Amino acid sequence: MSMAECPKCSSARIDKGWILSAGKIAFRSDGLPYPFSGGNVRTYVCVDCGYTESYVEREYLDKIKSKKNG
Ligand SMILES: [Zn+2]
Repeated sequence: MSMAECPKCSSARIDKGWILSAGKIAFRSDGLPYPFSGGNVRTYVCVDCGYTESYVEREYLDKIKSKKNG
């Protein structure tokens, strides 16, 4: 998934990066028993107005899906 256009101001000038804290931001599903190390949430920013939108990376979404189906 990605953000190609800003949903707030319709700008197409979008950059991609990480929101940082002590480390990369990670989403961990309550349904997965092991801790997740490293970041798995990618963030897009509109260079014109600063709006950000974040997505959990596909690899981790697949783990959640395989857990739900298996
Ligand atoms: Zn914008």
